[in-house]
Amino acid sequence: MSRMDDYNYFNDSRTIAGMAGPSRFRVAGGGVTVKFEADLLDCLDEDDAKDRVLIAALVKALDGKDEVTLTLPSKFEVCGECQGKGSHVNPSIDAGGLTREDLYEDPDFAEAYFGGVYDVTCYTCGGERVTPEVDRKALPAGVLALVELAEEQDRDSYEFARECAAERAMGA
Ligand SMILES: [Zn+2]
Repeated sequence: MSRMDDYNYFNDSRTIAGMAGPSRFRVAGGGVTVKFEADLLDCLDEDDAKDRVLIAALVKALDGKDEVTLTLPSKFEVCGECQGKGSHVNPSIDAGGLTREDLYEDPDFAEAYFGGVYDVTCYTCGGERVTPEVDRKALPAGVLALVELAEEQDRDSYEFARECAAERAMGA
């Protein structure tokens, strides 16, 4: 890829979502699940009032196990990344946007492009076409605090991937 291609590729939201890795939230069996590992306890501070709420909720949820997957009351929204298709074009193909010439001068490419040859499973929803929206009002306070922590971790992963991608885009 050329420098400009690299730049566009690494600034593309699909690329960044792929680098950030899967969300801690999953759509499974018609509900939203979120996974927590006991290691998380090491990151929490018993002297912090907010963390104590998290620790209590996590210890209760883990119930002595190494990890736990909680099923949360939820509603679903159409995936904003793929608009509910479950797939999107591989960003390495069109991250910089395609021009009319790209498509007109190469009809075989255009046919393959529109025919889905370059499609990959959506990096955001994993092909599920919808993304989970947790029904917060239905959550007990401790579980809500855990859910917010997982959301924060997802945001941190995305932010970290975005920074790495920005460096790659600059050719670092
Ligand atoms: Zn999607």
